[in-house]
Amino acid sequence: MKVPHAHQEVMLQVAGLDLELEALSSHLAELQTGAHLDALRTNLFAASSRMLEQQTQLENLQQELRKLEADIELVDKRIELDKQRLSSTSSSKDAEGISSELRSLTARKSNLEDQELEIMEKVEQVAALVEAESETRTSLSIELADAEAALAGDITKLASRISIVKTDRAAKFSILTEEASALFTKKASRGIPVAALKGRDCDACRIGLTSSAYEDVIATPADEIATCPNCQAILVR
Ligand SMILES: [Zn+2]
Repeated sequence: MKVPHAHQEVMLQVAGLDLELEALSSHLAELQTGAHLDALRTNLFAASSRMLEQQTQLENLQQELRKLEADIELVDKRIELDKQRLSSTSSSKDAEGISSELRSLTARKSNLEDQELEIMEKVEQVAALVEAESETRTSLSIELADAEAALAGDITKLASRISIVKTDRAAKFSILTEEASALFTKKASRGIPVAALKGRDCDACRIGLTSSAYEDVIATPADEIATCPNCQAILVR
């Protein structure tokens, strides 16, 4: 088939743009899955779960603390009451009974206060854990939001690059005659349609031409299509 050499060059450029489009589209599809953000999302989810667990633990401890405080208040009231009874009784037997109860109430109060102290320490420890986890969570959220924004930017840039290449491809393809474009499309459905002859090698299949095949290609007039005997790509020399 006769195709002006300049048009063969255009076919080669279109083939190059098609390869570029293929690479850009597969890169875009990969970015659109957002798979490289999965690790960040997993870490953020784990930090949120840990924080929720610690918060529950903290609430339980605080509830325990409130109960202990109420118990201590109750014991205090009874101690106060017993002290009043002790000061107003005239019976030594009653006084002995009240004193004995006071001793046991004081012991109970001391025991409750020990427990209160222990819980207060735990509250402090768990509250610190909640705060640390909350900071981790915040920084992971920021990191994820930044990565998502960067990803969205990359996707936009890539989509715009694809659109430019497509326009360029369409403009170049429209230069070709109907016959040449039909041949291009037919060959493109089977592999790389057009390639440069690099030395003695076909740039599509990267296989060197035999001496006689090479001589045939070289002998072909410039405005005639020459084809790679291995991969059937149009060879532009
Ligand atoms: Zn070839």
